[in-house]
Amino acid sequence: MHPCTRARAARGQAEREVLDPPPPPGHYDRTVSECLFCGIAAGEIPATVVLDGKRVIAFRDVNPQASTHVLVIPRDHYPNVAALASAGDGLLDELITEAHQVAVAEGIADSGYRIVFNTGPGAGQTVGHVHAHVLGGRPMTWPPG
Ligand code: 5GP
Ligand code: ZN
Repeated sequence: MHPCTRARAARGQAEREVLDPPPPPGHYDRTVSECLFCGIAAGEIPATVVLDGKRVIAFRDVNPQASTHVLVIPRDHYPNVAALASAGDGLLDELITEAHQVAVAEGIADSGYRIVFNTGPGAGQTVGHVHAHVLGGRPMTWPPG
């Protein structure tokens, strides 16, 4: 990257941090009190947890659309996958890696599975805390409904 571009990027990052400071390393306390999935991540709302990580947690969807239907979320609150991507701290990579680990543990990694991020109301997003749907265990068609 050209040094000027790098300097501009660093300035932009600094400005973003003033507006929206990140939590200190090791502190994942970005929660929204009225958020259902923040409540599940905090253990305040019951869920069938299949993976309990430091930054990521996975639990079964209450209304499964396939024999495996698991939701993988960051413990921190981000409203959607684009917001999570722009955080740029590797959390999105970790979420996808854990989604794959869920697929392995569920025995659907070889037969095939989908990772779906519904984003926005028109795409069917109903919970405003980013979540990857991991779906598998049945044949799937394309295009999706
Ligand atoms: P979206 O529609 O936002 O893409 O996905 C939200 C998902 O959360 C839906 O598949 C829905 O079934 C699931 N869901 C909604 N409320 C609960 C709940 O209280 N517990 C669990 N485990 N899943 C939920
Ligand atoms: Zn939340």
